[in-house]
Amino acid sequence: MTPQNSTESPQPSLEANPKFDSQQTLVTNAMSEFLRSPPDGTPTEVLEALTLMAGDPAEPLPPRLYFETVEQAPVAISITDARANILYANAAFEKLTGYSRDEVLGKNESILSSNATPDSIYQQLWRTIQRKRSWTGTLVNQRKDGGDYLAELMISPVLDSIGRVRYFLGMHRDVTLEHELAAELRQQKTRIETVLDAAPVVVVLLDKDGRIILDNMEYKKLLGDLRGREPLNLLREALREQAGFDPLERAVAGEGFRDIEISVEVPGSGGPHWFSCSGTAVNESDHSISGYFVRGNRGDLRLLLLASDVTSRRREVERAHLENLRARLAEQQLAQGMREALTAASYQIQVPLNLIRAANAMFRGGSGNVEVFADMLGQISRAGETALQTLQAALPTEMPEPGVSVNINELLRHVLALETDRLLAAGVVVDWQPALVLPELSGHKNELRSLFKHLIDNALQALHESGRTHRELRLATRSLGDAVEVIVEDNGPGIANEARFKAFEPFYIGWRQRRGRAGMGLALAQEIVNQHAGCIEMDADYQDGCRMRVTLGNVKPEE
Ligand code: FAD
Repeated sequence: MTPQNSTESPQPSLEANPKFDSQQTLVTNAMSEFLRSPPDGTPTEVLEALTLMAGDPAEPLPPRLYFETVEQAPVAISITDARANILYANAAFEKLTGYSRDEVLGKNESILSSNATPDSIYQQLWRTIQRKRSWTGTLVNQRKDGGDYLAELMISPVLDSIGRVRYFLGMHRDVTLEHELAAELRQQKTRIETVLDAAPVVVVLLDKDGRIILDNMEYKKLLGDLRGREPLNLLREALREQAGFDPLERAVAGEGFRDIEISVEVPGSGGPHWFSCSGTAVNESDHSISGYFVRGNRGDLRLLLLASDVTSRRREVERAHLENLRARLAEQQLAQGMREALTAASYQIQVPLNLIRAANAMFRGGSGNVEVFADMLGQISRAGETALQTLQAALPTEMPEPGVSVNINELLRHVLALETDRLLAAGVVVDWQPALVLPELSGHKNELRSLFKHLIDNALQALHESGRTHRELRLATRSLGDAVEVIVEDNGPGIANEARFKAFEPFYIGWRQRRGRAGMGLALAQEIVNQHAGCIEMDADYQDGCRMRVTLGNVKPEE
């Protein structure tokens, strides 16, 4: 074909070239011989491709056309002699290897060898082709420019009429990209599996028919714990029974769910196991060839099911709940016992009262004498004693709290947290100034908590009675060597100087609103402070409200 309007220098015509003739004959002969009796082990797809190139066997292509087809084939084709010296190489071979035909003709195929292919592969290659069988494998080849590529190679022997190897037919293609993609895919898979296996959660991916596509180490562990019973079936069953839905049906409807807690019986684990389950509907796009041109292809629906074992948290909550119940029952029992004892005592107190009334009537009526009154007084006294004993027996005995190492900042923080709602409701601004470092004291936590709670309650009451709009409570701690100082200060009405000491006496009530007050708070506070080798006082110099100063622990005298 003569190129029209071509500005390029004219190419030498192949037809006029004697080299071309010999090449054409070589290729046509070798290919025809090969197709006539293909050796064992030749991949069928190679046979099919070469047969297609040769055309209809009933009407074979003219040699020139056949040669052109091989020449233009997209795969690198070479024909060698029985020692692998190259006799022919097609255009794709030139393009892939970077060598021109003239450079490789007469050279051994080893020109393409890179040091990266192990010798054992070559030995196996040669053993196979010398047994007149086709060999297929992968080699690391080197281009003329020194770059390596991965070659998927098929070598087939072409035999002469008496069965000797006449030629070798080699076909190879560059599979570097496929290899890199496959390696990348494998690496991605390994990464995903590592992450999934490290997650402390059961992870399982299901197809729409409930078949497991992927699971993780926690899932396998659960399978072991369940002694071979499929965890997925148990989780699905539990969700159906306890939450009222099937997770797969949800996923198929394109819906997910979150943090649904269910229990599953795990043999030999001393009770049910609790799992918090979440499910996500995953839409995997269709990678089938038929789906290539389908826009917005919906693909297959999957369910990603996550189940986190929350048994220990659940048991902890249940235990706390039980403890609470037990404490409430004990309190109820105690209250009941006290009510009974008080009822009994109130009956018993009737006796001395009746006697007093009778003695009074006798006395006013002028009847009775000293002996009678003395006897009555004796009876009154005995009956009174009995009632008193009944009352004393009803008083709950207090369990002594063990002394432990306590951090005063931590205790104050607890009490503040407990009082937060009341402080907010009363509109009190809290100024909390804890010392950065405090010595640990040996003390009774509950008693100290009730001491601080009482002081804060007093401050709240004072602020309430003050009627002030700006209400402030300042809490501060300070280290005094081995001791700790706590300040509880409010900007309420303060306390009159003469009442500063009286306030610590039992039954003293200085509040305007006395309802529900027994006047024992500061007396008890004093007792708690005494137990902790400390002291409590109201700061006489403080004029803007009331400042309570508590010192706990032994303050070393200044040197
Ligand atoms: P070599 O010393 O040439 O061979 C290594 C081992 O191969 C030897 O130890 C021996 O066991 C065996 N061997 C080599 N030649 C023969 C022989 N004539 N008879 C029996 N055993 C022998 N190699 C590539 O690296 N890349 C290719 O793309 C490639 N394509 C080929 C295509 C064809 C059609 C044929 C026939 C061979 C092809 N080879 C290819 C193989 C190549 O000829 C070399 O054998 C190989 O490259 C190793 O070369 P070398 O110089 O490293 O070692």
